[in-house]
Amino acid sequence: MTTTAAARLMDGGSLARRLVEETAARAADLTRRTAVQPCLATVLVGEDPASVTYVRMKRARCEKAGIRSRHVELPAATTTEELVGVLTDLSRDPGVHGILLQHPVGPHIDERAAFEAIAPEKDVDGVTTSSFASMSFGLPGFVSCTPGGIMRLLDAYDVDPAGKRAVVVGRSAILGKPAGMLLLARNATVTYCHSYTPAAELSAALREADIVVAAVGRPRFIAGEDIKPGAVVVDAGYNEGNVGDVDFDSAAERAGLITPVPGGVGPMTIATLLSQTVDAAERQSAAGAA
Ligand code: NAP
Repeated sequence: MTTTAAARLMDGGSLARRLVEETAARAADLTRRTAVQPCLATVLVGEDPASVTYVRMKRARCEKAGIRSRHVELPAATTTEELVGVLTDLSRDPGVHGILLQHPVGPHIDERAAFEAIAPEKDVDGVTTSSFASMSFGLPGFVSCTPGGIMRLLDAYDVDPAGKRAVVVGRSAILGKPAGMLLLARNATVTYCHSYTPAAELSAALREADIVVAAVGRPRFIAGEDIKPGAVVVDAGYNEGNVGDVDFDSAAERAGLITPVPGGVGPMTIATLLSQTVDAAERQSAAGAA
């Protein structure tokens, strides 16, 4: 990190800790009032080391927040039908309030079919088409956790997207696309760039952007010289060696606000997952009592 950096850091680590504390207090309150302890079911197919680590981290954070986690481990050879069966059972289980299917699942599995087996009221990771549609229409539901975490970060740093030009680089269903939809819902003028966007157009769009969301998965893909002075730069990328999608040192010299990697968007993703799990437990508990 250079010492000439002008940008203020958006400290996702601290914000996430505060959100987890609030979530833990809500979980404790629900348990005290109703004897219901929020429960997140985590489903892991196979033994991909990164996925094993992510699930372990999520379960550990759950425990710290007073959320029970129920872990289901399935062999790599699990079929789509078997996985759909497990997710359907968890969706029907009143003791489970939220469901997380760790992805990517194996290439032989129809991931979309698996996601759709998650009941929308338990879709705390925001992966179903129902959740996406609710988000797009501004209806109640759960948002995909990384874009949801990004919006919380922007709010915490008083970044109002209304009337701003936002450029989202990447359009995956779990990250880029919903991030752009959430910014649009907050009245930003949103441009998506993706692998078909010519490099010169990407560069031109970035140079006009008040808010940049990088969600590509390529180390240091976005250069500082393309950042508009004073822009808000949110780097959701996470690449080998703890490197984001933005060239941090050069971008920090021009940006007004910037997320570090690690310690920016990443912690907000898990904190949002926990918060939405307690939301789900609260709603299901209230619906059961009604
Ligand atoms: P993904 O599904 O691989 O999507 C990558 C996106 O980048 C695609 O939309 C792709 O365009 C676009 N892209 C690829 N090359 C490009 C180029 N040359 N110019 C412009 N766009 C290009 O990845 P993802 O799941 O969205 O993840 C993106 C990054 O975020 C990864 O580094 C991942 O590790 C990270 N991530 C972080 C968190 C977190 O909690 N911090 C959570 C999820 C993901 P096409 O659609 O045209 O292929």
